[in-house]
Amino acid sequence: MIKTSKNKNVVEIHGCIVCARLFNVLAVYTPDGRLVDCTVTSPGGHIVSDDKHPLVACEHHTAREIGAYKIWKSQNVEN
Ligand SMILES: [Zn+2]
Repeated sequence: MIKTSKNKNVVEIHGCIVCARLFNVLAVYTPDGRLVDCTVTSPGGHIVSDDKHPLVACEHHTAREIGAYKIWKSQNVEN
């Protein structure tokens, strides 16, 4: 069970993974720095699910555009 009172809410700015447009993101981290949840607080964006980092994209991008980024990323991450 997650004890939300011990989690840390952080407002971050992230660029759309497709076109780099900036969005405000409210991210919730555990005390040891693990991402619990995140929400886009700017209009027109949404979260692209990722288990470690908040990723955002504009609502109008297609799943195909976002998927292309994720494939690229998975091929370029060392660990
Ligand atoms: Zn975009």
